[in-house]
Amino acid sequence: MAVQTLGKGDFHFQKQMGAEHASRSVHIVGGSAAGFYAAYLLARAGMSVTVLEQAERLEPMPRTLIVTSRMRDLLDTALRDTSVVVNEIRRFELYADGRVAEVSLSRPDLIVERSRLIRSLAEQAQHAGARIALGRRFLGLEPDGRGLLLHAQNNGHVEQQQTRVVVGADGAFSRVAEAAGWPRPQTVPLIQAVVHLPRDLSPDTVRVWFVPEDTPYFYWLIPESESHGVLGLIGPEGKYRGQQTRNCLEQFLQRRRLHPLSYQAARIPVYTGWVPVRRRLGEADVYLVGDAAAQVKVTTVGGLVTGFRGAAGVAEAILNGGRSRQLRALRRELDLHLLIRRALHRFTQNDYARLLDALNEATRAALGLYTRDEAGKLLWSLCRRQPRLLLWGLRALLANGSFPQRQGS
Ligand SMILES: Cc1cc2nc3c(=O)[nH]c(=O)nc-3n(C[C@H](O)[C@H](O)[C@H](O)COP(=O)(O)OP(=O)(O)OC[C@H]3O[C@@H](n4cnc5c(N)ncnc54)[C@H](O)[C@@H]3O)c2cc1C
Repeated sequence: MAVQTLGKGDFHFQKQMGAEHASRSVHIVGGSAAGFYAAYLLARAGMSVTVLEQAERLEPMPRTLIVTSRMRDLLDTALRDTSVVVNEIRRFELYADGRVAEVSLSRPDLIVERSRLIRSLAEQAQHAGARIALGRRFLGLEPDGRGLLLHAQNNGHVEQQQTRVVVGADGAFSRVAEAAGWPRPQTVPLIQAVVHLPRDLSPDTVRVWFVPEDTPYFYWLIPESESHGVLGLIGPEGKYRGQQTRNCLEQFLQRRRLHPLSYQAARIPVYTGWVPVRRRLGEADVYLVGDAAAQVKVTTVGGLVTGFRGAAGVAEAILNGGRSRQLRALRRELDLHLLIRRALHRFTQNDYARLLDALNEATRAALGLYTRDEAGKLLWSLCRRQPRLLLWGLRALLANGSFPQRQGS
């Protein structure tokens, strides 16, 4: 099914539909992963949904992403489009200071091609009844007594639409969040290079290197096909760290004799503590989902599955008068990742080497059994099988606390 978009005339029609329409209408700003998933869930539940996307055409930047099998549970239909999943991962190899630990996954991770996923989600949202308006750049919000007037730019003209619910799914530098008074999340630079896979790496295996002098996170090499993969890292916090992160990547590639074919990069928001995702503005509600709400696991800085969970939670809240169990569960998940990140953030090379040494058969089995999107179960199972890990974690937490705290409310 091709994605069909709204023309300018359709908007004037919507504007005339009046107050009854506005009470059932939701405007979602940002036509990407989190926005289209929220649109699908709300349209399926009978809401009148319009997605406003600034891009003139639905041609998202191609990008290779790794997600856990949890995504299959959330997005069954979109993943039936078989072109979305380009590879499956069954093994991880973890390296630190000459040590290596191997973990086999009981349910494979998925390698997805972002642009295909987004198009598939758009089609699914549209099929459920959502309207997609491309070339609409959100400018601001204005209370008008009955709800909100949403201002969007279209071909040099400013359009106004009346609504009672706005969902900001417009990414890390969300203008919706800014317009509604949320503080801006902190961001970290992420950069990865497309490379030919080294001969000794099987396409079903991800390699991870812990090199704390370069990054408090890690380097990864993720195969996206039999022949190609992406090698990348997340840089430290700080406004001017992008170039430093790129230099690290280039040197790392040289050391491994890998040639970059192209680069993919952006700043990713980091979760530094829960910020309520709903604000009341006049007679209307404004919500945030996905990167706009920094719904990103700070252990790995993966934001796709948590963004979908955020979208599902916000859809539930909109349909249930503000209440959502899914948002509470997501908060617990993100908080646990924050706790783990605080423990790991100042790990030395020696700490990582000791950690890999401590991974016995039982702990590696736990790492393979639970996904990174089940932090509670994973942590509990690891500590039960190797109590030393709990002790180290607590010691690291008490010693560090260096990971940024939340700013503002
Ligand atoms: C190189 C790279 C690799 C990554 N790898 C992984 C990975 O392996 N696994 C993982 O889980 N996550 C990964 N991530 C993170 C993941 O891609 C994001 O968390 C996720 O895509 C965020 O989706 P989103 O829908 O919230 O926001 P976005 O995808 O940022 O979408 C925001 C949308 O809003 C639109 N928009 C912005 N401003 C306006 C406006 N004013 N008006 C109208 N529209 C607007 C934009 O055009 C865009 O379409 C990676 C990110 C990068 C950059």
